[in-house]
Amino acid sequence: MLANYHTHTYRCNHASGTEEEYILRAISCGIQIMGFSDHAPIPFEEGYNTGWRVPKEKAQEYVDTINALKKKYKDKIELHVGFEMEYYPDCFDVMLRFVKSVGAEYLILGEHYLGKENDGRRSSGMPGHTGDSITEYVDLIIEGMKTGKFLYVAHPDILNYIGDDERWEREMTRLCKVAKELNVPLEINCLGIRDNRTYSSEKFYKIAGQVGSKMIVGFDAHDVASAYDGESLEKIKVLKEKYNLNIIDKVEIKGL
Ligand SMILES: [Zn+2]
Ligand SMILES: [Zn+2]
Repeated sequence: MLANYHTHTYRCNHASGTEEEYILRAISCGIQIMGFSDHAPIPFEEGYNTGWRVPKEKAQEYVDTINALKKKYKDKIELHVGFEMEYYPDCFDVMLRFVKSVGAEYLILGEHYLGKENDGRRSSGMPGHTGDSITEYVDLIIEGMKTGKFLYVAHPDILNYIGDDERWEREMTRLCKVAKELNVPLEINCLGIRDNRTYSSEKFYKIAGQVGSKMIVGFDAHDVASAYDGESLEKIKVLKEKYNLNIIDKVEIKGL
């Protein structure tokens, strides 16, 4: 089974390619299940536009487009429509209600900020996080997983932490253990592998392998070519052996 639930589109303004282009690439590479998970809009703050999310006025069109393509390609590929979304405790309910209202089938948890992005704090991927930020990050991920609304955790080691190594290890172990208990898979993020980013790190996979958390591959495609990423899959085969990773190949989408 070849499945990928992490696909963006031009609609979020920092990726390229239409839904159909991603689908054709996926079909030609033998993908059997493909999910779109573009960045969820923040629908509640009038006048505030993050610029890297699907604008809320475009969210319905995004879902409708994919639903139409689902029918068009039903004999070739199983398609799903969802969003990648943060767990921001004070607005989770509003965001969830919005994505449900447009007909999203699933969410993946990508914690791109600690606290909402308009409060002036650096993004999770930016270097410079120290001290308690790692605990804050893991607490948020755990709370998010406990809502039961997220299919899996995207790039679980995205927080670019430059503090104490032991503390990082302790917190990442806690994250992996709770994910295992809650049966929420953690992503092996191919964008991190492709771009050699600080996340998708071997030190994280070592911990996940020791804990035995379930893992799932996500291409995190921001361009059409990455709707299938064979090079990363080859690297993941090596990681799987090296760290004894418990990789599953599909997740059940049960609706929101
Ligand atoms: Zn993105
Ligand atoms: Zn992400």
